[in-house]
Amino acid sequence: MSNVVTRFAPSPTGLLHAGNYRTAVFAYLFAKHSGGSFILRIEDTDIARSKPEFEANIIEALTWLDLKTDNQYRQSEHRARHRELLEKLIAADAAYISKETPENQGDREEVIRFRNPRGTVSFTDVIHGKITMDVSDLGDFVIARSIDEPVFHFAVVVDDMDENITHVIRGEDHISNTPRQILIQRALGFTSPTYAHLPLILGNDRTKLSKRKGAKAITEYRDLGVLPEAMLNYLAFLGWNPGDEREYLDRDTLIDSFDLTRVHKGAAIFDEVKLLSVNQHWMRKLSDADFIKYIDARYSSATDTVRLQKATFLLKERAHTFNEARELVSGELSCLFIEPVLDMNLLIAKEPSDHPGTTKAALEELLDPIKSLPENISAETVKDVLMPLATIAETKRKGGRGAMLWPLRYSLSGKERSPDPFTLISILGPKETITRIKKAIDMLEDEKK
Ligand code: GLU
Repeated sequence: MSNVVTRFAPSPTGLLHAGNYRTAVFAYLFAKHSGGSFILRIEDTDIARSKPEFEANIIEALTWLDLKTDNQYRQSEHRARHRELLEKLIAADAAYISKETPENQGDREEVIRFRNPRGTVSFTDVIHGKITMDVSDLGDFVIARSIDEPVFHFAVVVDDMDENITHVIRGEDHISNTPRQILIQRALGFTSPTYAHLPLILGNDRTKLSKRKGAKAITEYRDLGVLPEAMLNYLAFLGWNPGDEREYLDRDTLIDSFDLTRVHKGAAIFDEVKLLSVNQHWMRKLSDADFIKYIDARYSSATDTVRLQKATFLLKERAHTFNEARELVSGELSCLFIEPVLDMNLLIAKEPSDHPGTTKAALEELLDPIKSLPENISAETVKDVLMPLATIAETKRKGGRGAMLWPLRYSLSGKERSPDPFTLISILGPKETITRIKKAIDMLEDEKK
């Protein structure tokens, strides 16, 4: 074990979006790459806004992403320690109780202010290099609203120290807070951790990604059927890449390749379309059996598992999430599992009006060749057998290939859009195919009567 300790320090005041978890991913990858520890600290000192359900959602999201923590803390559990160190600063006259003139309702008459030594504060950020800021303008800033209510800057400094955090990895929006926190560290006699401020994450509209502007909570992606390995892969690439052409990295490879010094300075764009294409990659990598497990987990109307197994390649081809896969199973591909209801007009849609009966004749012609097909057969072989039948001279069957292939596909699918008839037959098998074709023939027969 190295002594590297990183932390993810979210406030449980709302559902966090995927971009928020990029911080957790980078802190985790850096810790694990260095053989160190990764800590979760729930920053719940804002009593009014912190909610247990948001904390539960954070734990759920980290569990889903499998970002295992080596320790978990709740900031509110450290109140006594915060108080102790506030008192210490006041005793050393590095902070003082300040009488205030309340301007707004709810303003305190007394707060605790830090005696700002003024001048400049510099630190070296792993990503941004040396940063120097003049802290004079901050004045004697507030570090607690009362002895039991430290503000964020104070609590963060104390907790980072007590939890032996070596690297503070967090969003760029915290850069401006860092000099204040360094001043507090110095007053308490703490050594400053190493800072790495991650580039902002913007939405497609190039403004900061935020829940208010419609960014989904990360757990919504889980519920849509995004794989955790896909989300991890995607988030790791928001502001970082391994420096070569590789785009799809699993957890171990990410841990192996992650390098904080390669993190970009420029903002990263959260692009849902790209996320879903990364997800499709990871979905396709699953074995068919595992893929089906994901569908079955929340969807059970595809009861015919043999057919579902045979149809998996279609789902892998088309779906970007497991929700989409389930929608295909109950929508466009439902004919693979449920017998379709046919519409006469669509059944004869490709029949030349001056040659009535073409559809029925074409379907009847197909019965024997299909009957002789084996139960397990590839779409290609079905095509090899049936295509020559469809491609007979226009003089023999008016309407060309379509006059046979359309009613065949339609009697099997009952849909204007579906996979080609050869694929359908290879999944349904010859027996079910014959049953469906016969139904269509019966319908055409009834129509004649
Ligand atoms: N609780 C802070 C936030 O949610 C993070 C503080 C930090 O990382 O230092 O933005």
